[in-house]
Amino acid sequence: MAASEHALAIVGGGPAGLTAGIYAARDRLDTVLLEAKPLTGGQIVFTDVVENYPGFPEPLSGAELMDKMRKQAERFDLQIATAEIGTVRAQGDKYLLAGDKADYLAQAVIVATGTESQKLGVPGEEEFWGAGVSTCATCDGPLYRDKPVAVVGGGDSAVKEAVYLTKFASKVYVIHRRDRLRAEKIIQEVALANEKVEFVWDTVVTEMAGKDGLEALKLKHVKTGAESEVAVDCVFLYVGVRPNTDLVKGLVELDERGLIVTDDDMRTSAPGIFAAGDCRSKKLKQVATAVGEGAVAAYSAQEYITGGPYGGG
Ligand code: NAP
Repeated sequence: MAASEHALAIVGGGPAGLTAGIYAARDRLDTVLLEAKPLTGGQIVFTDVVENYPGFPEPLSGAELMDKMRKQAERFDLQIATAEIGTVRAQGDKYLLAGDKADYLAQAVIVATGTESQKLGVPGEEEFWGAGVSTCATCDGPLYRDKPVAVVGGGDSAVKEAVYLTKFASKVYVIHRRDRLRAEKIIQEVALANEKVEFVWDTVVTEMAGKDGLEALKLKHVKTGAESEVAVDCVFLYVGVRPNTDLVKGLVELDERGLIVTDDDMRTSAPGIFAAGDCRSKKLKQVATAVGEGAVAAYSAQEYITGGPYGGG
């Protein structure tokens, strides 16, 4: 089957990809946005409350925010297709994007594939996946009304989702491998003031145990080596993320964590390939930064395709 040809292909339908799509569509660039599953919206859809994205004085959920971004993109007739892209490779002066359902050929590509949740790799994790082990408090939290649960991690996601889980759970243990959180201070303050949240410092999970579902976590204190157990019905893992960059491995420069290296104009080491959002090597991973990078990537892609400054060429 012949590849569907476009000036620009955007891979990923999160905040960075959709923003790039809005800018490219408004510029009437022949663009296709490819997402692995319909209406994914990226990792932000798993966030219950977004309260630091400007323009929304009242908090809204990640899913609501992404629904608005998608509607905005559709208003400008952005073409969105469902295809999981396995590889992006040079073909002449274009790029071939090999997908599970179809292939695409494009002059320029914006990679906005984001990240996926890391797992711990301890015994019991795979066995109880979906039966007491989760990476989505928004999806699974309501199932644990009046039950004790645990969150693993000390970053923004762990601490924020721990507070969200107190809406349902009788108790939320936050198990963190250090004695200091890396979460934003304002998020920490809310969690530390919540009586249902109990921090378990300097501690790692060594095993997840149970019969038909998760019943307990086996723990180890990293400083004393002391072992203990805590009874919980579910554990929510927020131990960081892994970039979805395998599709461009060998094509563009990646940093030591597998994130795509770009310049300030979102150009990667391969001409015509741009990157934006959480899959990019950078300090601050936020919706606010992702949308800015999406806009810049679209601008740069337009320059690359037309051979001149934005609107010129
Ligand atoms: P993160 O910032 O990378 O935090 C991961 C946490 O998991 C860290 O506390 C880390 O411990 C811990 N960890 C990592 N590997 C572990 C292991 N094997 N065992 C036990 N603990 C482990 O990840 P994130 O919280 O998912 O956030 C990802 C990005 O999104 C960040 O840039 C974050 O700022 C952003 N974000 C922002 C918001 C917001 O509302 N502002 C919300 C969510 C996410 P150490 O601290 O010891 O390294």
